[in-house]
Amino acid sequence: MVETLSIAVIGAPGVGKTSIIRQFIYNDFSEVYTPTRTRYVYRPSVILNGNMYELKILDVPPISSFPSSSSQEWLDLRCRGVRNANAYILVYDICCVESFEYVKMIRQQIVEHREGSSSEVPILVVGNKRDLQRQRFMPRRAVSVLVKKTWKCGYVECSAKFNWHVVLLFKELLGIAVARGMRQNHTAIRLQGALQRNRCTIM
Ligand code: GDP
Ligand code: MG
Repeated sequence: MVETLSIAVIGAPGVGKTSIIRQFIYNDFSEVYTPTRTRYVYRPSVILNGNMYELKILDVPPISSFPSSSSQEWLDLRCRGVRNANAYILVYDICCVESFEYVKMIRQQIVEHREGSSSEVPILVVGNKRDLQRQRFMPRRAVSVLVKKTWKCGYVECSAKFNWHVVLLFKELLGIAVARGMRQNHTAIRLQGALQRNRCTIM
């Protein structure tokens, strides 16, 4: 039996969400920007501390807000599964202050719109495009302190382009999620599929 964890990846358009996911799963990066128009689900398997997990990674297309109710989630195909995710990766571009404002808004809405103790869901804020750090709008330390101390979220900076800290960010999030017991259903092990080349990451 393996545990399944669903992770919703949310952020403003062009910040590198799809690039981070594809680098993590396929070791692949494209300079060409292809906007994600529909919700896409990736299902890699990972091994962390000797345990296997099936991840359900939702690449969420641009949404104006976090769905405030289950009915809103069902009416908007882009949001399916977003409210009940076991963890969130909120991506912004370290050179784009608007993308940080977007992450700030979504984080607030997750806390407000998820009910009861589920509002304490693990959230990792990710500053992408670290390779362009000369153009960053705020020093790393200042953002890190704000996100960790005030928002009570994890914080990692990465570069999807150079595959820098990409595995680390998933490892960090998974570590928090597992520690908090954020498990979903148990599914039958599908070893063959999981162990296909590039589908199982040992962290
Ligand atoms: P999404 O809309 O958030 O899914 O963004 P994409 O993953 O499609 O990436 C948007 C653009 O940013 C593409 O042209 C990527 O090549 C580029 N990009 C993504 N990650 C990085 C990065 O770490 N560094 C640099 N320099 N460019 C990146
Ligand atoms: Mg995309």
